[in-house]
Amino acid sequence: MENFDLHNHSTSSDGLLSPTQLIELAARAGADAIALTDHDTTDGLAEAGEAARRIGIEWVPGVEISVSWGDTTLHIVGLGIDPAAEAMVKGLQSIRDGRLGRAERVATVLENMGIPGALEGALALAPNESVLSRTHFARFLVEAGAVKDTQQAFDKYLAKGKPAFVAHQWATLPDAVAWIAGSGGVAVLAHPGRYGLKPWARRELLEEFRRLGGEAIEVVTGSHRPEQYAMWRDVAKEYGFLASRGADYHGPGESPVEPGRLPPLPQTLTPVWSKWAH
Ligand code: AMP
Ligand code: MN
Ligand code: MN
Ligand code: MN
Repeated sequence: MENFDLHNHSTSSDGLLSPTQLIELAARAGADAIALTDHDTTDGLAEAGEAARRIGIEWVPGVEISVSWGDTTLHIVGLGIDPAAEAMVKGLQSIRDGRLGRAERVATVLENMGIPGALEGALALAPNESVLSRTHFARFLVEAGAVKDTQQAFDKYLAKGKPAFVAHQWATLPDAVAWIAGSGGVAVLAHPGRYGLKPWARRELLEEFRRLGGEAIEVVTGSHRPEQYAMWRDVAKEYGFLASRGADYHGPGESPVEPGRLPPLPQTLTPVWSKWAH
């Protein structure tokens, strides 16, 4: 099986490496194909595509869209998208437009907890200010000495249920899937094991996603613990989803798996890349 890695981040959203550095790292690790899937933006795709062509690694333009599904925030990855498609451009813009207001609310909570300057601090760490993310707040909290690492920043402040988490309305699931389809891409439910859904809600989500035209779920991802792979393998089989594989890499010291270094997909699954394989 070829080494496809179809979920990664760069400095265009909350990653630490430039698009070029990411592609180079994946190529060094032996990846045959790589996708860049930044949060709610396609800003890094041109540079990453250029680097992939130069290095001779197969290139898959992607995006990871933030979605609100009831009280749950989901991530829907679009693979093989045309970043110039109008619905995608407008849709992603509408999501990004909400990020600064949310960030201001996060900063206000932190200030009330005795941690001033978080908005300015997070912005200073965000190379693409239009995708100001909780990850940038996490890095600011490390820098400010409030926590020892970014994981602790989420565990103590930023994760759902923690004091500096603020509810936010992202895209709807039907819209996100439609933008991806309208840009020629394949919709993939990212890291389904991370949403903490009860079995009935999980079933509802998978059925709704499939009904809307979602075609794949991530099975082998840096955002699943290895012991979760078997369960999501079985879910992919049961629902007839194609399977995706991606590191969800954000940068040195912040991600358990480097691009191109994941275990293979289980043999019994049909890889999502069979859709556009040569
Ligand atoms: P945002 O889209 O601004 O809410 O930020 C979401 C990003 O924060 C995710 O893509 C992850 O990179 C990171 N993140 C979210 N939850 C956690 C968590 N519990 N632990 C570590 N990182 C997280
Ligand atoms: Mn992220
Ligand atoms: Mn995600
Ligand atoms: Mn991701």
